[in-house]
This record gives sequence, C-alpha cells and structure tokens, in this order.
Amino acid sequence: MGQGDATALAAGDGTAVVVDAGPDPEPVDRCLRDLGVTRVPLVLLTHFHADHVAGLPGVLRGRSVGQIQTTGLLDPPGQAAFVHRTAAAARVPVVPAALGERRRAGPLDWQVLWPAPATGFVPEGANDASVTLLVRTRSGVTLLLLGDLEPPSQRGLSRAHPALPRVDVLKVAHHGSAHQDPELLGRARPRLALVSVGRDNPYGHPSPRTLDALREAGAAVLRTDRHGAVAVTGSGRDLRAVARHPP
Ligand SMILES: [Zn+2]
Repeated sequence: MGQGDATALAAGDGTAVVVDAGPDPEPVDRCLRDLGVTRVPLVLLTHFHADHVAGLPGVLRGRSVGQIQTTGLLDPPGQAAFVHRTAAAARVPVVPAALGERRRAGPLDWQVLWPAPATGFVPEGANDASVTLLVRTRSGVTLLLLGDLEPPSQRGLSRAHPALPRVDVLKVAHHGSAHQDPELLGRARPRLALVSVGRDNPYGHPSPRTLDALREAGAAVLRTDRHGAVAVTGSGRDLRAVARHPP
C-alpha cells in the first residue's frame, strides 16, 4: 500500500473542512461518503506532494466545495499544476493560505501558523512549506495539524509561536517519520497522536523512536496502517479515538 494523509474536520450538518486529500481519489471519497459529507467549505492542501493532493478529485466528486487553499511554494510544479487544473475544471477557486489567517466554519475555528515568511525562514522543500493549522472546536478540543513539516520548520514554528498551547490532538508530522523536533512535541504534549501512514510503506514510517517519544509525552498513538481510518470524538474527559479496525 502507498502512503498518504487526509483529515476531515466535522463542521456539522453534512459539512466538513478537509485537510489534505490522500494519494488516491477513492479512499477519501469513500471516507467522506461514510461520514455523510456533501458540503466542503474549504479543502486545505498542506503542500503539493502527491500523497496529499492526488486524491483531490475524490473530495470534489459530487460535493459542493467552496475553496481550495494551498501553500505558496508550488513544489513539485507538476502536482501544483494538477491541483490548479483539477480545481479549474470543477470551478473551485484556489488561493494561498496566509500566515495568521483565522477562519471559522460552523463549530470550528482555526488559525494558519505556518509557513512564516516573516521569520525569514526559507523552506528548503515542499515538506517545510506545509500549511500548519491550529484548530479549535466549539466544545474546546484543540488540534494541531502539521502536514509533513521537517525539524527545521518545526523549530521555526515553535519560535514563531511562543504561546503555542498544549493540544488535545496532534496530526503527527510526515507520517511519523524519525525527524521530529523534541521541543515542539514537548510544547504540544498531545493526548491523542494520529499517525497517517501506509501499511508496508517503503519509507520505514512510522519510526519506533517517534512513537516512543509520543507515548513518553503522554499521548495515545493511533496509526492508520494498523487501525484503519481513525475518528476523534467527544471532548474534555470524554475525548476518544475510534478506530475502524481496532487491533
Ligand atoms: Zn506526505
């Protein structure tokens, strides 16, 4: 199986904000159908690697989609062109996510924390330019979605946001690769850590060292290669992750 990443943030009433679309249109379409999602006010594509954007046609299929937001670094150019072409065919506007931008959709609000050109940080590659969101639900659940950020940008993120709070849910960067900044993990100290990772992927993701560090920081770790699709429900003491394929 390949590798990929897609997250649906429920915004109530058949509506969801979708962050990344995975590597293939079928699974993300099926997932959104299972969730009853027919309206997507925003698709946020963290960066242009195929494992995050190639599933876009599956998100658009049969749904009313308001807008697509992307990172400003059009790398790799072929995938960036694919996104713009696919969006144009569906008449969905594509705009870059702006640092600091805050938005709402139903019970969700979120802020764009990265990339931060103001800090003078120049991304070395697509991963480091991942759009990073801090999301808060009306019931008070916080989520930090890191895309595929590598340690240089994870450190930049920590520095750019000294008040970054502890979060309930962390979408672990880069499919749980070995390259994680301990300071950012120490700041986020999530209760639930979600690792979106392909079974038998050729990259050795997730790294056992990363999984250990997450658990040591107090997180329960859910990984899609073992658990299948993972849903996070509830809030406060009732926050829990529900796996489609419990181990
Ligand atoms: Zn990726």
